[in-house]
Amino acid sequence: MIYRIKDGFVNVYIIDRGDHLVLIDTGIEGTCEKILSKIKELKKPLKTIIITHHHLDHTGSLKCVKDATGAKVVAHEEEVEVIEERTRVKVDVPVKDGDVIEGLKVFHMPGHTKGSICLLDEESGALFVGDIMIERDGKLYEVPHRYSEDPMMNRERIKDILNIEFKSIYPAHGEPVLENARKKVKELVEALEREK
Ligand SMILES: [Zn+2]
Ligand SMILES: [Zn+2]
Repeated sequence: MIYRIKDGFVNVYIIDRGDHLVLIDTGIEGTCEKILSKIKELKKPLKTIIITHHHLDHTGSLKCVKDATGAKVVAHEEEVEVIEERTRVKVDVPVKDGDVIEGLKVFHMPGHTKGSICLLDEESGALFVGDIMIERDGKLYEVPHRYSEDPMMNRERIKDILNIEFKSIYPAHGEPVLENARKKVKELVEALEREK
C-alpha cells in the first residue's frame, strides 16, 4: 500500500510494509507534521527514510522526522555528503545502483543531481522517480532545466527509465501516473527527441 502526502507543490510517499512503514522523501520544512500524523493514523513504526536527492523540497523535514521516529536514513553514496551538510542528519545507509532496500531496487540516475536515485517497488512495479520527471495535467515532463545540475544528462536518464520494468510512476511533483505510465514516458522521450 502506498500513501501519498501532498504538501503544496511536493509529494512524499509512505509505503506500508505490513508491520512497519517506509518514507520516500520528507518534503519541505513544514511537511513534518503531516508525515507524523499519517504515521500515527497508520499505527505502525516508521523504520526507514529514503531520500531521492538532496534538494530542500525533499529533505526539508528530514531532521524533524528523524528526531521523532529514529528511522534509519538512506541515500545514494554520492548524495551523502551534501545531505549531511545541509540537514545535519547522518545518512545511516549509503546505497548504490542495484542495491535493494525495503523491497525497493535502487537505480542511480545522475543528472538532476549527481546522486539522484529512482526506486522500484519490485512487488507492485511502482517507480518512485524523485525529480527525474514531473507530472502536469496527465502528462510527464522533464523538470525545468534551471533546477537540474546537468539537464542534458537528466534527459538521458529519462530514456533509461524505459529499461526498467515499472507499471506506474510516482513523481515528487504532480500526480502519480497509474495508467499508461510506460506510454507516457515514451511520449516524453519522443517529445525531447523532437526538441533536439
Ligand atoms: Zn530536485
Ligand atoms: Zn523537487
